[in-house]
Amino acid sequence: MITSFHPPQRTLMGPGPSDVNPRILEALSRPTIGHLDPLFVQMMEEMKGLLQYAFQTKNELTIPVSAPGSAGMETCFVNLIEAGDTVIVCQNGVFGGRMKENVERCGATAIMVEDAWGTACDPQKLEDALKAHPEAKIVAFVHAETSTGATTDVKAMCDLAHQYDCLTIVDAVTSLGGTELRVDDWGVDAIYSGTQKCLSCTPGLSPVSFSPAAIEVIKNRKTKVQSWFLDLNLVMGYWGPSGGAGAKRAYHHTAPINALYGLHEALVLLQDEGLENAWARHAKHHNALRAGLEAMGLTFVVPVAQRLPQLNAVSIPEGVDDAQVRGLLLQDYNLEIGAGLGVMAGKVWRIGLMGYACRKDNVLKCVTALDDVLGRLGAPVNHGVAVAAALASYGEK
Ligand SMILES: *Cc1c(COP(=O)(O)O)cnc(C)c1O
Repeated sequence: MITSFHPPQRTLMGPGPSDVNPRILEALSRPTIGHLDPLFVQMMEEMKGLLQYAFQTKNELTIPVSAPGSAGMETCFVNLIEAGDTVIVCQNGVFGGRMKENVERCGATAIMVEDAWGTACDPQKLEDALKAHPEAKIVAFVHAETSTGATTDVKAMCDLAHQYDCLTIVDAVTSLGGTELRVDDWGVDAIYSGTQKCLSCTPGLSPVSFSPAAIEVIKNRKTKVQSWFLDLNLVMGYWGPSGGAGAKRAYHHTAPINALYGLHEALVLLQDEGLENAWARHAKHHNALRAGLEAMGLTFVVPVAQRLPQLNAVSIPEGVDDAQVRGLLLQDYNLEIGAGLGVMAGKVWRIGLMGYACRKDNVLKCVTALDDVLGRLGAPVNHGVAVAAALASYGEK
């Protein structure tokens, strides 16, 4: 007889999902009401405002797509791109490769601009590509590359794209709520994120936002968006134009009602903490984690100026068995850290400090656990110094 599933309480310090704040788990269990119930519609209106704050945008079309980050990505690409278009994709990790897939599946041509994994996208290379491809319509890149822990200068990239009359699509799945992101000031035209990284909500929703220029393109398409579910012309009728809670809504799909309660709560938490404070918290705990890991002798993959605080990629020491270490961390400490992805598989660990998981007790737990496990396995690292180094970073003994 199969019985109820009861997962253990883990500490999630990988590339996402991150630990979910208990207040969000509680919100998920509130009574389900109808998705056209006036109170639910009112909650949807609040959600748009909360997301505008998180993205730092006045974009009216700022909503959560009812599916994970990958669906937010697909929403941006299928709505803005038509067959025959040219799109410049700047790739510096796994997720840029998915952008290429999206472009090609839209029947468009992807011009790839490659940067080394573990570094930022280079605006100079983008400019060269823009000059060589005046036919390009869109520039796409990842703000926070979760596969490597590198951040890219969004404003510099968007400024260049606009100089050459291109719109921009930006992946902010791992950056939203964790590091500085200003959609309007930086000139982002279409952006997608996820709920399970620095917003510390459960996975399965994708906040997106579209500038007025992007909406113009969507409204003036020559062909229908090939995805019925992700066609924003239809989704807009469900989430409503502005006009408040009283605006008429057309049934499109049944919103994941309780999941939206969770995201609403996550965004209220972010609002209460303050966006700048959340960014500063990620930076502070990253510095402590970094101090601990470096004291151990572990080295970061990404140059310091391009490093994300919420995703710390460190090289696995010579002779150490990647899977064995992660297995022991899980077994003995209930601690999950991430494995390497793509070309970095088996070479790096990805230690996340995202949202609710980004706390002092987790930093200390992580360096303590790694120190212990690597010590037991006889790894070539400095033992017994990591915790003191992390504490010193906090200004404590
Ligand atoms: C996690 C992630 C995604 C995919 O999000 P899912 O919710 O897993 O679909 C896309 N881009 C980046 C940069 C990510 O970190």
